[in-house]
Amino acid sequence: MARLVMKFGGTSVADIERIRNVARHVKREVDAGHEVAVVVSAMAGTTDRLVAWCEAALKERRIFDAREYDVVVASGEQVTAGLLAIALQDLDVNARSWLGWQLPISTSNTHGSARILDITGDKLIRRFAERQEVAVIAGFQGLHQETGRITTLGRGGSDTSAVAIAAAIRADRCDIYTDVDGVYTTDPRVVPRAQRLDKVAFEEMLELASLGAKVLQVRSVELGMVHNVRIFVRSSFDRPQDIDPHGNPPGTLICDEEEIVEQQVVTGIAFSRDEAQISVRQVRDQPGVAAAIFGPLAEANINVDMIVQNVSADGKTTDLTFTVPAADYQRSLDVIDKARQAIGYTRVDSATDVAKISVIGIGMRSHAGVAAQAFRALADRSINIRAISTSEIKFSLLIDAAFTELAVRTLHSLYGLDKATP
Ligand code: ASP
Ligand code: MG
Repeated sequence: MARLVMKFGGTSVADIERIRNVARHVKREVDAGHEVAVVVSAMAGTTDRLVAWCEAALKERRIFDAREYDVVVASGEQVTAGLLAIALQDLDVNARSWLGWQLPISTSNTHGSARILDITGDKLIRRFAERQEVAVIAGFQGLHQETGRITTLGRGGSDTSAVAIAAAIRADRCDIYTDVDGVYTTDPRVVPRAQRLDKVAFEEMLELASLGAKVLQVRSVELGMVHNVRIFVRSSFDRPQDIDPHGNPPGTLICDEEEIVEQQVVTGIAFSRDEAQISVRQVRDQPGVAAAIFGPLAEANINVDMIVQNVSADGKTTDLTFTVPAADYQRSLDVIDKARQAIGYTRVDSATDVAKISVIGIGMRSHAGVAAQAFRALADRSINIRAISTSEIKFSLLIDAAFTELAVRTLHSLYGLDKATP
């Protein structure tokens, strides 16, 4: 017997037929003798609609009261939790729904992006034992204890609910059922020869998720890493009757690196076209200049990513180049312009048609020359590298956006990630 959390995302519960299909997945695990807590998202499109309603309800003021926003958007998950409990009971599975405030899932009071502080799992564990009861839990929502108000965890937050509940009930695994069958070496729409990974380490997944692999909310991976919750990403579209609950279903296990026996040097390649490059030309080469540039950007809450500073040729001036999210591009230029006096530069050059390609792998810690191979391969294809940044398990290259696909495919083959053609 195992104790499982099963999480179903919006597309997996998009209509009543799919909710009934989810109930069959849950019944399969219950029949196999497992203790099960299910975490559900709102039905696909529901949260977007609720957010739009909040925006439409506002005419005179510019921002709405985040406490009321949470009351509205948390309702999507309440509907799914109740419906799934009904569908389970219809299959003679003993089930009870739970909202965030009922467990409770206690959170900070940062409405709209609250952090989970604590969940007591004992009540659920007792009910598994005494009543053989499946817990159906509304994801995405929690309770701020002091004010007694409903909170939500930020878009995609039901992944985080699921992992937090898995930690609280000491589950053997947290299964994330979604519309893809796992985590891939890169986006299969760009590289048809991308492969599903059997296992990926928490740290690698954290990089992949931060860089835009949309499978999991970043915070859920952080939580999984801290509490060592094994997370299994799998498809909810496999037919429940075809799955052997004691077998090895297709999917990707996100786990501690100790559990990964055959560690590749490179695990995956992520890319993002949502970057912009800004170069501040001929700033003085003396202490305080970087602070004069990045201080105001930080105050404006702009997340600077890659930073390159040249060595000055004349000992007097140098250039400083960095990247920001494309969405913050104009704001960043405004900030730099306002700080012109303090920084003291001659010119700003910028570009938005750039892409960041990141190569990720824990194996890089113990292998030298991994990035050098990429530089050679891209040079052979005449792809110019505008900026480079590195960390222990990742390096990122900024290139012209037009070469994104070519660069990703080149590196995917270079590091042996292509699947063999059938
Ligand atoms: N329903 C919420 C959203 O769409 C939470 C989630 O699905 O994870 O963001
Ligand atoms: Mg999601």
